[in-house]
Amino acid sequence: MQWDIPAPVRLVLDRLEENGYAAYVVGGCVRDLLMGRAPHDWDVTTSARPEETKAVFSDLRVIETGLKHGTVTVRVDDRNVEVTTFRIDGAYTDARHPDSVTFSDRVEEDLARRDFTVNAMAYSPKRGLVDAFDGRGDLEKKVLRCVGDPDERFGEDALRILRAARFAATLGFSIAPEVAEAMQDRALSLTRISAERVASELLKLLRGKDAERVLVEQADVICTVVPELRLLRGFEQKGAMYDCDAYTQTARCVGAMERDALLRLAMLLLHCGKPATHVHDAQGNSVYKNLYAVSGVIAQNVLRRLKLSNDMIFGVSTLIVACGKPIPDTRKRVKQDMNELGELNYVRLMKIKRAEAASFVKGTYDISDKLLFAYRQFDEVLVCDEPYTLKTLAVTGRDVRRFCKTPEGVGQTLQLLLDAVLDDPAKNERETLIRLAKEINDTAEPA
Ligand code: ATP
Ligand code: MG
Repeated sequence: MQWDIPAPVRLVLDRLEENGYAAYVVGGCVRDLLMGRAPHDWDVTTSARPEETKAVFSDLRVIETGLKHGTVTVRVDDRNVEVTTFRIDGAYTDARHPDSVTFSDRVEEDLARRDFTVNAMAYSPKRGLVDAFDGRGDLEKKVLRCVGDPDERFGEDALRILRAARFAATLGFSIAPEVAEAMQDRALSLTRISAERVASELLKLLRGKDAERVLVEQADVICTVVPELRLLRGFEQKGAMYDCDAYTQTARCVGAMERDALLRLAMLLLHCGKPATHVHDAQGNSVYKNLYAVSGVIAQNVLRRLKLSNDMIFGVSTLIVACGKPIPDTRKRVKQDMNELGELNYVRLMKIKRAEAASFVKGTYDISDKLLFAYRQFDEVLVCDEPYTLKTLAVTGRDVRRFCKTPEGVGQTLQLLLDAVLDDPAKNERETLIRLAKEINDTAEPA
């Protein structure tokens, strides 16, 4: 096993050891290294108390990240290394935070407070691997087990319930039966956890390679944090396109999408308006009236409650609503959609349509030719640098103002010019457009 620890982290470990303290990398980075994955952050745990750590690194910049919890951040060569003192968490009375924190001299005590066995290992180049709960065995078995009694551990901090689902999705692990049982029993206590902590774990879960499986297996947990999905469970859909309930189809929609948080969130909420919009057609098949407009509104509420960024809230809900539009089937419609949505969202919308199509019974909803057309036309518009926005018109409001009888007339004229240019890009020339602007206003009804 090659323990590839970056130089700045190595420096922190070595310095602490040279000063007589025990120091290890710990948690997620050890798990990732043992799995052959590149850790994205490195945490150090040490017997040094925060004041002692500060003294050891007095020549470097040290940020007091959470002194009360024993954490300081040491800045080495542009890298932040979080250093936390071995810690024992006191009692939890609020299902969220320990009432108190005591420092310890033993790394094993620090590992005992951690959530899952695979996250409860520490490694030091000098002292080797400390694996008091057989995290390594569980890594090999690809199973998530709690450190200690699951019911107790979830009772201390309910967020761990969602973290279990998150790690199952990101690592591709199964959840030990006693852990899964405790998750179900305690799922409701997740409502006491702050929106920010829930949202952060939910987004990580959605990005996971096994998100689809976990959404199905842990539907109770997911529907506690997004209750708007609850009615989709067991929601029967009639017709040849459907072979599962609306919730399972939602999980498929997520699984069929690339692993991007915004896009997968859009897939998670794309069909949340189904129960409210469901009707039967003359044959008795399920159809949904205004599904995407309704889902978009519900999605906005969900995302606001989760306190996600405005970009995320607006981005997801706009895309869901836009999904109600048909796939553009002419060059002009492609350009109109590009203008309305912007290039980025145009592509995102096609991805959403494709992932959604993959969630129906195979062969019953084949839109691949339509999508191919919409992608090709999009590419060609860009390659040919064809104008499709007001900004790319060869004239501005100033050029056409003199022909217009009212201020609103300026905007209307520009829109009509754009429409003409969308039909025929060759018209995007100053003289032609000015002539056209004059014609438009000469023939317009007087205000
Ligand atoms: P990631 O790779 O996503 O960062 P991670 O395992 O490092 O995963 P973090 O949330 O960064 O997860 O937490 C770092 C470590 O702290 C975990 O590996 C775990 O040992 C411990 N930990 C974090 N949150 C909790 C919690 N709520 N309860 C118990 N231990 C926790
Ligand atoms: Mg981490």
